[in-house]
Amino acid sequence: MNKIASTASNLGAIDAAHHLHPFSNMKKLNAEGTKIINRADGVHIWDSTGKKYLDAFAGLWCVNVGYGRKSIADAAYAQMQELPYYNTFFGTTTPPTTLLAQKVAEKAGPTLNHVFFSNSGSEASDTWFRIVRVYWKALGHETKTQVIARKNGYHGSTVAGASLGGMKWMHEQGNLPIEGIHHINQPYWYAEGGDMTPEDFGLKVARELEDKIIELGEENVAAFVAEPIQGAGGVIVPPSTYWPEIKRICAKYKILLVADEVICGFGRLGTWFGHQYFGFEPDLAPIAKGLSSGYLPIGGVLVSDRVAQVMMDEVGDFYHGYTYSGHPVAAAAALENIRIIEEEGLVERVRDDIGPYLAEALASLADHDMVGEAVSVGLMGAVQITADKATRQRFKKPDDTGASVRNQCVNAGVVLRATGDRMLFSPPLIISRSEVDQAVGALRDGLDWLKDNRGEG
Ligand SMILES: *Cc1c(COP(=O)(O)O)cnc(C)c1O
Repeated sequence: MNKIASTASNLGAIDAAHHLHPFSNMKKLNAEGTKIINRADGVHIWDSTGKKYLDAFAGLWCVNVGYGRKSIADAAYAQMQELPYYNTFFGTTTPPTTLLAQKVAEKAGPTLNHVFFSNSGSEASDTWFRIVRVYWKALGHETKTQVIARKNGYHGSTVAGASLGGMKWMHEQGNLPIEGIHHINQPYWYAEGGDMTPEDFGLKVARELEDKIIELGEENVAAFVAEPIQGAGGVIVPPSTYWPEIKRICAKYKILLVADEVICGFGRLGTWFGHQYFGFEPDLAPIAKGLSSGYLPIGGVLVSDRVAQVMMDEVGDFYHGYTYSGHPVAAAAALENIRIIEEEGLVERVRDDIGPYLAEALASLADHDMVGEAVSVGLMGAVQITADKATRQRFKKPDDTGASVRNQCVNAGVVLRATGDRMLFSPPLIISRSEVDQAVGALRDGLDWLKDNRGEG
């Protein structure tokens, strides 16, 4: 055990006294006690009681290459000794920062050839939100400021990020959204598709974008943002008709298309980026999470030639940036992370081997009485819980239902996430077939438990 951990004998009490956690009910958490995670390796984490868990959620969608990569630690250590920090504001850069920009552009191409660095996905949201307005203003379209996003989308937790996101319960805290952001429906067929086929429903919700552009006036709309597959909203895989129609509408009305790649990027869907899986080219694409596999905080916005050219030729100074934009140690870790993904062929592994294997394993749950649908793309999957298969009826308290099944899985040593009544998988890209079996088996046991203990639900 390291020095910091070994000097504190009562971390739980200290944590309750001093540490406010993100997205947490602190009264409830302090009553139940915080779980202290103090070690990890591969796809496994250990808590302070010595209990081992299979982390089928890759931390928080991010540890794509798995835990315990000594070469990433070495790269960060070497960079920290050579040059721990320098800024990129006043005509300077550092070698790993510049090389990372080149590397990311190489993977994202053909037109996403530029990167603006941040330290997180939320900061990336704030960054592109300003870029799209600056872009249109520079072209003389002063009124093109409005941004269209989706209900139940997630784009981070800063003021712009939470406003762009479509979580009502987030908006209620802090008087959000800020001015100029509009939300259309999500392509969540299971919950909202009614009697329509998924394909018809996909077209219908995509066309809400067109209706919203017409309502606001094309001359007032700057951009549309969406995650290729909605992550925190519950791994909502859109019907096949959805993205082609979105692409058509953005092109027709000449509004910028922003693909939030914070989860889908860096191999999760069996492609380097989610837009490549769905076959479209965004104008801007925020990235974070898998960029460094979470080893150090770093994010950014991929910027297309079209937008970057205007930034260079027309905008002049762009008054935006973070002290740690392109931090050299984080960039060195990210470069090594990407090198590992390449060397081990992890993107191809997800596409050709372990992604299809997860899909098959999840499909084996489809006939369970408590399962409405089981879907996945690559290593991003969801199992929808239902109270009645035939009518797609939900449990009365979906959040409690999902949380109770999640607790069963965690107690059994498998960490999954529940968003409402959808059980989510997002394991490290190195997960083995037997570990997939273990994770899906734990969920099956949890669903069996739910069936036996469903009460009135
Ligand atoms: C996590 C996430 C963000 C926010 O990233 P942070 O690093 O938590 O600020 C933004 N967009 C999507 C799609 C995400 O999943």
